[in-house]
Formats: sequence, structure tokens, C-alpha cells
Amino acid sequence: MRCPFCGNIDTQVKDSRPAEDHVSIRRRRFCPACGGRFTTYERVQLRDLVVIKKNGRREAFDRDKLERSIRIALQKRPIEPDRVEQMVSGIVRRLESLGETDVPSDTIGQIVMETLARIDTVAYVRFASVYKNFQAADDFEDFVSELRPSAADD
Ligand SMILES: [Zn+2]
Repeated sequence: MRCPFCGNIDTQVKDSRPAEDHVSIRRRRFCPACGGRFTTYERVQLRDLVVIKKNGRREAFDRDKLERSIRIALQKRPIEPDRVEQMVSGIVRRLESLGETDVPSDTIGQIVMETLARIDTVAYVRFASVYKNFQAADDFEDFVSELRPSAADD
């Protein structure tokens, strides 16, 4: 697993245990190159979702991308990392339970907004204002970088 801080590929697992929801394994990782610590979650993927963009292009649903955009919206908000993880799991479960493999990008945006609205008003407003400006561009990657102009951790 690549270190999100310095890009080093050779990181070590310090600790593994079931996450609170018991549908995932939580691993604490350590990067010997920069000393960075981060957490990963391993889970069963029920269905391979495909995102349909407004321009008709199809792309594999990327849970990490979704999580990143939510973390950015929640930056400096008093929300526990585990809570974010639960939120992302909840959103993915909702998407999977739509019963369709193909999910329009709009649907994802709407579900994210509804979820954020319940959790944190500031984060919701942040996400919604950028999201609405982005209806035309319709590229989640651009959308994410718009939320954080200095996106450099990828
Ligand atoms: Zn590192």
C-alpha cells in the first residue's frame, strides 16, 4: 500500500482488527520512509458499480475518490475519522442497494449531499456549492481538485 504522504510503496502494517461495523478490517499502517501513519480498510465488494457521467462516459466507481471528496468537505470539521468511514460505507451500501450496476454521477452527488446535510451543515454547504458549479464539467476528478485547489497527495 502506497504511503499517502510521500508515495513510498513499502509501508508496514502495525495492527489489524475488525472495524466497528464488523464488515471491514481496519489496518494501521506505518511508512518507514517518512514516519507517516495512516489507516486502511479492507472490505468485501458486493457489486462492481459503474459511474455514468453526464457526457455518457462510463468509469469504474472509485470508493477512495468518494471518500477523498467527503474528507475534503469535512476538513477541519469536528467529525471522527471512523464516522467518515461509516458515512462512506453507508453511501456505498445505498448505491449498491439501488439494484443497478450503472449509477449516474448525479445520483452519487445527491446521495453525498443528503448524507452530509445530516452530519455537518458546514461540510454540506461546502460540498453543495462546489458540486452545483460542477454540473456542467461533470468530472469527479476535477470536482475533487476544485474542492481543494492544491490537490497534491495523489
Ligand atoms: Zn511516507
